[in-house]
Amino acid sequence: MSGDRTLAIGIAGAGLLGRLLAWHLSHAGHRVSVFDPAESEAPTFDGRQAAAFTAAGMLSPLAELDNSSAEVAALGWRSIELWRAIVARMTAPPELRTEGSLLLAHRSDLGAAQRVLARLASAVPGTPQARPLAPAELAELEPALQGAAHAWLLPGEGQIDPIGAMLALHGQALGVHWHWGRPVAGVAAGALTFADGSELAFDLVFDVRGTGARPELPVRGVRGETAWLHAPGHGLTRPVRLLHPRHRVYLVPRPGDVVLVGASEIESEDRSPVSLRSAVELMSAAHSVLPALAEARIVRLDVNLRPALPDNEPKIEATPGRVRINGLFRHGWLIAPALVADALRQCGLAQLPEAEEIT
Ligand SMILES: Cc1cc2nc3c(=O)[nH]c(=O)nc-3n(C[C@H](O)[C@H](O)[C@H](O)COP(=O)(O)OP(=O)(O)OC[C@H]3O[C@@H](n4cnc5c(N)ncnc54)[C@H](O)[C@@H]3O)c2cc1C
Repeated sequence: MSGDRTLAIGIAGAGLLGRLLAWHLSHAGHRVSVFDPAESEAPTFDGRQAAAFTAAGMLSPLAELDNSSAEVAALGWRSIELWRAIVARMTAPPELRTEGSLLLAHRSDLGAAQRVLARLASAVPGTPQARPLAPAELAELEPALQGAAHAWLLPGEGQIDPIGAMLALHGQALGVHWHWGRPVAGVAAGALTFADGSELAFDLVFDVRGTGARPELPVRGVRGETAWLHAPGHGLTRPVRLLHPRHRVYLVPRPGDVVLVGASEIESEDRSPVSLRSAVELMSAAHSVLPALAEARIVRLDVNLRPALPDNEPKIEATPGRVRINGLFRHGWLIAPALVADALRQCGLAQLPEAEEIT
C-alpha cells in the first residue's frame, strides 16, 4: 500500500490498538488523525470507554492456552518481546514485569488444576512449561501468598500497567491529531464517515473500534468485572491465577499498593455496575490466598466489554485503503503489539520498533 511516502492515516478508535497504531505510525513520520467518542484520553471508569482501561494487563501466553489457540500463544510470546522494545523507547515508561506468574489451586481443585496443566503442556510443544513449586519455593518467591495447597510457576509470563501504557502511548505519539467526542459511523477504503454525513479522506484508514465496529463486523462484547483493592504492604510481586469453579480469578499487583482482582467472563453486553455476586466471589477467592487483603480498601469496581468475534480469535483484514483489526477478546494486552506489527507489514508500512523484531 505504500513505499517510503508519508501517508495521511485515519484511525477509528483510540483504545489499545488505536493508540499503538498512532504511536508506531507517528514515529514512522506519517500524518495521523485518531477519532473516538470518548471525551478525552483519560479513563473515566464508567464502563463505556476502551476495554483496555479495565483490563488487568496480564501477559499470559501460557495460561491463556487454557481457553485460546496456539496462534494466540505465539502472538503473545512475540508481543512480550515487542512490549519490551516499545517500553524501552519511552520516557517515564509504564510498569512492565516478566518474572513469571503463578498458578495456584486449593486442595479441592487439584483435579481441575491437573486438567488445565495437561492442556497447557500439550498445546504448543517447545514453549515454556508450568513448573510445580514446593511450599518452600513458593514461600521464597511470594511470601505473602498463603492458603493454597498447590502452586506452579509459569515462566516468562508477566504484566503491563494498562493505564500507564494507554496514557504513555497517547502522550508520546508524535504530532497526532486526536479528535475526542467524535464517533466514526463508517469506515470505507480511504475514508471515514461521521454521524452527520460528513466524510474525511485519507490515504489509509484503520478500523479499530472494538465493540463499536458493528454492524460492519460481527463483534460482540463479553462482560468482565474487576475490583481495585488498596492494600499497603500487600507484598505480592507477581500476577497470580487461582483455580476457581466459576471464574478465572487473578490477582495483579499494580503501582500504588493496589492489587487488581479480576475477572468475571459473562456472555452479556450489560455495562451496568459490578454485581454483588461477582464482587463477593472474586474478592473472597483473592483473600483466600492473599490474607493481607483482609484490611484492603475497595477503591474501585470496574466493568467493561471485551471485543470478541464469533470464533473468539483475533482477525486482521487488510484491503487497499482500509485495515480492520478486531477480536482481541480477553488477550488484547497480550497480543496487540504482534498483531499491529503483522498489520503494518501487510500494508508495507515501516515499523517501529518492529524493525528490530525478533520473530
Ligand atoms: C475485565 C477485563 C479484563 C481484561 N484483562 C486482560 C488481561 O489481563 N490481559 C489482556 O491481554 N487483555 C485483557 N483484557 C482484554 C483487552 O482489554 C482487550 O482485548 C483490548 O482492550 C482490545 O483492544 P481494542 O483496541 O480492540 O479495543 P478497546 O480497547 O475496547 O478500544 C476500542 C476503542 O474504540 C472506540 N470506539 C468505539 N466505537 C467507536 C466509534 N463509533 N468510532 C470511533 N471509536 C470508537 C472506543 O471508545 C475505544 O476507545 C481484559 C478486558 C476486560 C474487559
